[in-house]
Amino acid sequence: MSAPRHRHLIWDWNGTLLDDLTLCIDVMNAMLDRRQLPRLDLARYHELFDFPVRAYYERLGFNPARDNFERLSIEFITGYEARRLESTLHRDSRRVLAAAAAAGLQQSILSAYRQETLREIVQHFGIATYFDHITGLDNIHAYSKVTLGQDLIRLLGIPPGDILLVGDTRHDLEVARELGVDCALIAAGHHPADRLRAGGGHVFPDLAAFAAAHGL
Ligand SMILES: [Mg+2]
Repeated sequence: MSAPRHRHLIWDWNGTLLDDLTLCIDVMNAMLDRRQLPRLDLARYHELFDFPVRAYYERLGFNPARDNFERLSIEFITGYEARRLESTLHRDSRRVLAAAAAAGLQQSILSAYRQETLREIVQHFGIATYFDHITGLDNIHAYSKVTLGQDLIRLLGIPPGDILLVGDTRHDLEVARELGVDCALIAAGHHPADRLRAGGGHVFPDLAAFAAAHGL
């Protein structure tokens, strides 16, 4: 798989370009502490985190009868939003985006993150100019990215076979399959390499390895 095979890179945001792993664990631990539930460390987070988020919350021990999912979801997002600027881009994000642009690839972001906040944080890091489209949800709950992705591909007007989706979770692989686009997974985010490989994904340990394999 080399760069010229694809004309467009669709990037996932959280965990793929943005390194928000520690922040997600911290915010969730505060919620767990409030209810005296067992805390997360990285290994437990990697084991339990998945989409749909509702099932993940149940695995963490939240009692749906006492804490409804909508309320938990809002509590997490409020905690995350208050601290969102503590996260940084992954070490190689800027370099890889610049190299892909220099290689003539077009790039977009497809994220379950809220549209307005997504645009704002991408601008905050000064990387908005790399993207033709920045596509997030209009709603704060993490629904599937498939519908958004279908809209984005229609907008791009290029065949799905010319597109490579780059993500960090098994959900990204499922989305790519549903969209009919190729997928590369970076094991430096919300899912560990073994879980990504078990899903049948094409896995790279980090963005530098992804870039090297694609001649970027
Ligand atoms: Mg992600």
